[in-house]
Amino acid sequence: MSTPLQPGGFFLPGPTEVHEDVLAAQAAPMIGHRGAPIEELISSIQSGLQTLFVTEHPVIVSTSSATGLMEAAVRNGVRDGRRVLSLVNGAFSGRFARIAQDCGHDVEIWEVEWGRAHPPSELAQRLEAEHYDAVTLSQSETSTGALQDLRAIAGLVNGHKDTLLLVDSVTGIGGVETRTDEWAIDFILTGSQKALALPPGLAFAVASESMLERAKTIEDRGWYFDLVRLVEKLGDNQTPATPAISLLYATDFQLRRIHQEGIKARWERHLAMQRRTFEWVDELRTGGVGVGVFAEEGGRSPTVTCISMPEGVAAPEVVSEMRSKGFVVGGGYGKLKQETVRVGHMGDHTVEELEVVLGQLGEILT
Ligand SMILES: *Cc1c(COP(=O)(O)O)cnc(C)c1O
Repeated sequence: MSTPLQPGGFFLPGPTEVHEDVLAAQAAPMIGHRGAPIEELISSIQSGLQTLFVTEHPVIVSTSSATGLMEAAVRNGVRDGRRVLSLVNGAFSGRFARIAQDCGHDVEIWEVEWGRAHPPSELAQRLEAEHYDAVTLSQSETSTGALQDLRAIAGLVNGHKDTLLLVDSVTGIGGVETRTDEWAIDFILTGSQKALALPPGLAFAVASESMLERAKTIEDRGWYFDLVRLVEKLGDNQTPATPAISLLYATDFQLRRIHQEGIKARWERHLAMQRRTFEWVDELRTGGVGVGVFAEEGGRSPTVTCISMPEGVAAPEVVSEMRSKGFVVGGGYGKLKQETVRVGHMGDHTVEELEVVLGQLGEILT
């Protein structure tokens, strides 16, 4: 029998802990996927989603995991035979590049060391040197805790009218200040189970006019992830196929909770959790414990910190010791499995809850 989980102790970098009232909201009776009740529900969640993305555009609701909308980004945003520039600095940005390749596109992978962000000045040079149909990136690279300077990157890509910026903001939206319209991002997507603190199963995105215009020129963009169809149906507060209705109940409820906190306060709370994690790392180092923050200073995500373990400490054992105390933290991702532990300080978590989980982690390491 495994130790029962401590309430407030689930710090995986996705899925994240879901408030019990949000879980309970899913249990409402079923409604049809056509007709007034579902239209009211979809209309009700629109304004909350627009606040999260800081947009006036409709927010696409997809019954899929976030990766589904990464594929949608490529299928609707890249024309046949055109080049894609993929910024890769970890596992998820690597997945984005792979999706573009597997959709048959010519992909130029610009890889920097894991833990780093891409320098905008070098991007400017690359965009001058060659034409790309689209640029892909992960704003907050969950495998390493690195944060891209999305505002600067969007500014640069916007200087090239025929190049679209496709953004995976799965651990960004709802936790990291991100202004879709002001920064003129062409396509930005997230998933329900990360900073929004909802169960997995839904994904959300905003497409700019340029993105939708581009999509209309691509005849074989498919059906399920056709952004033009998704946006058109949204005009009637509907989805083309049956949505995960129970998850929509939870979303409606959770968006009200987020509205009560306020989006700016939510971004601030994530920054406070990030600061506390860095302080804790410094405290341990001062005490002679060789932990570190894996991502480079100046480009670190407010939603997830990848912590490098002291020499000789096996990260998977630390994760399992935490579990036996009733706490869940993330293991290192892919090639970082042995050397790092990830703390997903996102969603509805508070600095107080974080304090407890870091305290437990500290006890194991000292
Ligand atoms: C979790 C995650 C994904 C994948 O999301 P799924 O919902 O599992 O498809 C993609 N990108 C980033 C940055 C993530 O954190």
